[in-house]
Amino acid sequence: MPIDLPPGHFFLPGPTEVHPDVLAAQTRPMIGHRGRDIQELLAHLQVGLKQVFSTEQPVIISTSSATGLMEAAVRNGVAGGRVLSLVNGSFSSRFSEISLACGHDTEVWAVDWGQFHDPAELDERLGEGGFDAVTISHSETSTGALQDLEAIASVTRRHEGVMLLIDSVTGVAGTEVRTDDWDLDFVLTGSQKALALPPGLAFAVASSAMLSRSSQATNKGYYFDLLPIMKSLEAHQTPSTPAISLLFALQTQLDRILAEGVEQRWARHTAMRDATIEWVEATRAEGIEVDVYAAEGHRSPTVTCISLPEGVSGPDVVAEMRKRGWVIGGGYSRLKETTIRIGHMGDHQPEKLAELLQALGEVLR
Ligand SMILES: *Cc1c(COP(=O)(O)O)cnc(C)c1O
Repeated sequence: MPIDLPPGHFFLPGPTEVHPDVLAAQTRPMIGHRGRDIQELLAHLQVGLKQVFSTEQPVIISTSSATGLMEAAVRNGVAGGRVLSLVNGSFSSRFSEISLACGHDTEVWAVDWGQFHDPAELDERLGEGGFDAVTISHSETSTGALQDLEAIASVTRRHEGVMLLIDSVTGVAGTEVRTDDWDLDFVLTGSQKALALPPGLAFAVASSAMLSRSSQATNKGYYFDLLPIMKSLEAHQTPSTPAISLLFALQTQLDRILAEGVEQRWARHTAMRDATIEWVEATRAEGIEVDVYAAEGHRSPTVTCISLPEGVSGPDVVAEMRKRGWVIGGGYSRLKETTIRIGHMGDHQPEKLAELLQALGEVLR
């Protein structure tokens, strides 16, 4: 069995640390999945979820990991046309693979890992016509790159009938996402990232354009067909049994999030990102060749991928940090040897992050 860490030391970029009150909420006695108790709970959850997504529209709660709702996005958002998949890392690549696996004609627009997509070029590419949807990972957790979602959305809006399908798994609740103001068609997240819940739930908002696309789509399968999900949601129900214990945890966590304030939460994440970047720069100034992997100006407030000096191994740094009582993320897939990742997301506080960075400095020296 792994040894329990003291609070504030678990900085994986998902799952991230969960507050003891949120964990404890899961031990409440079971309620039925039909009837008044669950309907009251689901209605109550909408209040907080709408604030988290900056929306007046109902928020879908899915008992699945976030990948399930990525599949829902392409199954419902495409009705015979092509998909343009913006790829700049591992999760955005997964999105394109899901689209292919669902049988869609998928064009991959890949840029280097750690980079971002230029909205003006998106405009040109969509101008070719024939596209039903664009897939994008807002905050690419494998590299820490942040796409300019507002600009991408505004360009996509110029092309009628193109759905913008957004994996904002490490965006929502950690950085600015304005679902209604930016007119987003389908924006999804998972419970175990910036929301700081245990894994097992996923959330999304579908625009009315997305729902009318869904009514034209075929081969949607059963579990992720948005139309029955939305019909149940309006009655504060779910089509099948939800993960009730996780809903209790969500209720407790939403109360905590609203007590802090959603915009304050975004600001806290941005401050943690900036502190991490500053630390990298100061460490490099000492002659230790670390760097922030993601392009300048496009760095996620929730996760930083740090490239290591030549000859220093990512897994060794992670192991040394673990000996000092800190859990950080290793590099993702092809970046495993050469980078590490810090998930400064969820309920983490800048003071603890500063302690972590000090320990990391000792390890690297
Ligand atoms: C974690 C993550 C996913 C996958 O989430 P699961 O809950 O594991 O399915 C997808 N996209 C991004 C950007 C992520 O960080």
